[in-house]
Amino acid sequence: MPFMPTFQPRAKLHEQPASSLVVFCSDHRFQAGIQEFLSQGLRISEDCDLLVIPGGPQCLTLVEYLPKFSWAGWRWTRFLVDAHDLKRLILIAHQDCGWYKELPMHLHNSTEPRKRQEQDMKRVQVAVANELPNLTIESYYASYDTMGNMAIEALTG
Ligand SMILES: [Zn+2]
Repeated sequence: MPFMPTFQPRAKLHEQPASSLVVFCSDHRFQAGIQEFLSQGLRISEDCDLLVIPGGPQCLTLVEYLPKFSWAGWRWTRFLVDAHDLKRLILIAHQDCGWYKELPMHLHNSTEPRKRQEQDMKRVQVAVANELPNLTIESYYASYDTMGNMAIEALTG
């Protein structure tokens, strides 16, 4: 792949303020689908900040595992929410998340991967309600079928 000294995008700098923070996992397989969800589904692709790290929302669970990571996740989240006066937090977990394969099983009530992730989404909801009570929060789960078709569904309750 050639080294590219300068690239000039057609897109101009987007100057309107952001309203939302979207937290999801780094896994490259989901990036195009999630971007499409943000632009065509939620229609916020131009006014959301992104926090994209391995495991996505797991870093905001405030469980004892990897406390420095949790500290950083919260530090980044608070920074963006305060600096940009964000009102809406969107969490997206995904099927077959490699990060969860490394987490110790004792952190969750279930060994079933999706249940572990849903438990963490609920933990984040509780933590955010306490720590950042002005934020509204929505949780989604991205899955795929054997043909590679993705679906991103809202998690409720
Ligand atoms: Zn992942």
